[in-house]
Amino acid sequence: MRFFTIIMGFLLAFIPIVNAAPDIDAIRKSVPNITTQTLKAELAKNENMYLIDVRTIRETNIVGGTIKAKRNIIMPRGWLELRIEDEIKDKNAPIVVYCGTNRRSPMAVQTLIRMGYTNVRNYSGGYSAWLKAGLPITTRDAAPMSFLYSKPIKVADRVWSSIGETSPSTYENTGHNNNLSFVIGDDAVMVFNGGGSFLLASALHKEIKKITNKPVKYLVYENGQGHASLGGSYWKQLGVQIIAHEDAAHKIKEDKDRILDSARRRLKDKFFNTEMIMPDVTFSEKKVLDLGGIKVILQMLGAAHSPGDIMAWMPEQKVVISGDLAFHERMLPVFEDTQTGEWVKTWDKFEALNPKIIIPGHGGPTDMATVTKYTKDYLVFMRSKIGKIIESGGELGDAYKIDQSAYEHLDTYELLYLRNAARIFQAMEFE
Ligand SMILES: [Zn+2]
Repeated sequence: MRFFTIIMGFLLAFIPIVNAAPDIDAIRKSVPNITTQTLKAELAKNENMYLIDVRTIRETNIVGGTIKAKRNIIMPRGWLELRIEDEIKDKNAPIVVYCGTNRRSPMAVQTLIRMGYTNVRNYSGGYSAWLKAGLPITTRDAAPMSFLYSKPIKVADRVWSSIGETSPSTYENTGHNNNLSFVIGDDAVMVFNGGGSFLLASALHKEIKKITNKPVKYLVYENGQGHASLGGSYWKQLGVQIIAHEDAAHKIKEDKDRILDSARRRLKDKFFNTEMIMPDVTFSEKKVLDLGGIKVILQMLGAAHSPGDIMAWMPEQKVVISGDLAFHERMLPVFEDTQTGEWVKTWDKFEALNPKIIIPGHGGPTDMATVTKYTKDYLVFMRSKIGKIIESGGELGDAYKIDQSAYEHLDTYELLYLRNAARIFQAMEFE
């Protein structure tokens, strides 16, 4: 029986190869190719050209990375037909495709040409040649075997955080683009942030269970945004009590359809089971959770980045999970409902708590001086520049010209700096 299975397995494995193997050599010769040196030179001239790494995410993680470029997209070859048109709408955009060993990429180039893309080339050296040449690479995911972008780290006694990617939410990061923290008491665990999807919340729970056997009793939404609340769909099923500020609850009600739509588009199959869950309990100023041996003060200090921004303050340990009140590794975003003037005032109350460790909304744990530099100081800088422009009768165009280069190294700078200038200008015109 065993022998028979082996023979059958052998035959089954062999037959499709004989029948369907494409003539890779012929395909390689038929597509336009690009060398390492040319690719490097062209990227230096045009950082907006697209690179598509057609290996799987798992592969890129196992070999330690992918090419570092502004528009490098990891999209396994089998997904191209289904997904590429969402990512690259302009059929004439310059695109370079690569893989590891120049087998899949020529076929992917062929596919893209067939789909009507006019400027597609194959990087035949692939990731291995790029790596050998010592050119810049990046690792997309610190925890490749989990939906989490990175596994939880211990920040202080009883306090842990799973740090998200400091970029927008994407299919690859499963919506893990902000920090999902938890505090372990003698009786119960509090989770701070649902995360951007059901799967993400369930992956976090898996990690929590490895660290403690105490039950998760509370889930707190830092505000009314998707990355705070979408994972609530997982915790709700377990009967966990969900807590948020009343303004966040309001915002969720208002934005629900928009948030769900965009998450569904981004996450595709990873949107699985995700719903928008309203908080069970809301508060306006303060709510204290006794987890047993540790007290967590949930509080609203004032308006800041978005309606209902709250923090979790642990006074005995001087640790604060600040949520989106504080930024440092990535550029802070100004939304239509962001109140930059109030944010600066709220900051003073935040500073007065005198926390030793801050777990911000995004990026690793840090201290007060660092978040002050990239949050309050940035806001004060932009408001004073824009205030002067408005005073002297200047226009929106002048706000775009403000030199923000001191913040250029921050993640998401490119995406946000002009939008921030515009939004602050438009809001300050009416102040
Ligand atoms: Zn955020």
